[in-house]
Amino acid sequence: MSQKIRGVKGTRDVLPIDTYVKDDDPWVRVGHYDLVEQSARDLFPLYGYREARTPILERTELFVRGIGEVTDIVGKEMYTFDDHGDSLTLRPENTASLVRAYVEHNVNQQEPETKWWYLGPMFRRERQQRGRYRQFTQIGVEAFGSPGPRIDAEQIELLDRWLRRLGLAFEMHLNTLGDAACRPKYRQALQSHLRSRSQELCEDCQGRIETNPIRVLDCKNPKCQEVAAGAPRMEEFLCDACKAHFAGVQEALQRLGVRFVIDPKLVRGLDYYTRTTYEAIATSGLGAQSTLAGGGRYDGLVRDLGGPDVPGIGFAAGVERMALLLAQQGKERATQPLVFIAPLGEAEAARADQLAQELRAAGLSAEVSFRKANPGNQLKRADALGARFALVLGDQELKAGRAKLKELRTGAQHEVSLQGIAGEVARLLGTPR
Ligand code: AMP
Repeated sequence: MSQKIRGVKGTRDVLPIDTYVKDDDPWVRVGHYDLVEQSARDLFPLYGYREARTPILERTELFVRGIGEVTDIVGKEMYTFDDHGDSLTLRPENTASLVRAYVEHNVNQQEPETKWWYLGPMFRRERQQRGRYRQFTQIGVEAFGSPGPRIDAEQIELLDRWLRRLGLAFEMHLNTLGDAACRPKYRQALQSHLRSRSQELCEDCQGRIETNPIRVLDCKNPKCQEVAAGAPRMEEFLCDACKAHFAGVQEALQRLGVRFVIDPKLVRGLDYYTRTTYEAIATSGLGAQSTLAGGGRYDGLVRDLGGPDVPGIGFAAGVERMALLLAQQGKERATQPLVFIAPLGEAEAARADQLAQELRAAGLSAEVSFRKANPGNQLKRADALGARFALVLGDQELKAGRAKLKELRTGAQHEVSLQGIAGEVARLLGTPR
């Protein structure tokens, strides 16, 4: 036998069957992902968001300029390669790509306000742990053209509703990072505080003092947290416009009935954020990687990437983490067949294929057995597939043109005519066709 080839570290197969026996997590199947994805497809358009699809491959400079050279993502986590002289990168997030597309296609000339949502894989070379992978899936939204604060609140309310609909337990954290007018002063004050206590910081944070001091605030190292606790707070430095904006977001959230907590430590990892930042943090079930979704305003990004001066705000949610929570709750989008048909002989098999075809043509899912087995084993197979009904087709049934449709959950038997099988099944479901 040849040697097996294993999947790449930090990537996962998501199958319709149970996998990942090795950790103590429940099995995450496609049905769990599907539930997350379908609920976004149903809900986001109700808020005016339309789907946008951009390539997984982008020019490396897009992320270097968009996300910022000193961030962890650009500094050490990107999958970058040379493509005959062009440096390309597998996207580590999608905001920069959507901004690129927005600018490239002059979208602001067609519409003053734009709302897009997206779904797809992202790639970061991170240390793998539960809820953190090297290929993962994000669902996110971006709203261009509205300076806020009402759109900020509308978007946070959308995230809140989505997670609630899925039955996930979380807390919404809210903060403001100020803008180009007030953040530099805060940064200076923070830097001088950090410099005075640099010996107490971890090695990474010592480097961050000069490059990205705000990130020290959300370092997980207990010593860094202690230094952060005594640091000056953004709140004290906000300019009047940023203060008014932040108050406006909070008022609008209260009007919409969204609960939130103010979290001054919520700084987000990327350079481009201004003013509003927010995160939905799971209250149980995930351990260290508990942030389900994070977002914020990025008023300078479109301009920085060569576009007009158009403000923006968005969030990205991690589908793997949400799917894991749904798996813990045993919730998934069902893909089981409705009717399982088991023919016992050759002539019956030919008829079974036709019956399945008729059911499918009527929009009813049907699975037909291709294996020879006795009726008992066929019923076991129907059960394993999670079928609602099983129909065993033998010589007798074929001759009579009638058969018993067994409801697997209850054991109830319904006699049906094979002629017009789709109508019979629809009748049993209570949905006339
Ligand atoms: P970010 O783009 O870093 O703000 O991440 C937004 C969300 O994406 C996070 O809250 C996570 O739910 C998810 N996420 C980010 N990085 C990863 C990863 N490496 N593995 C799985 N999910 C991730």
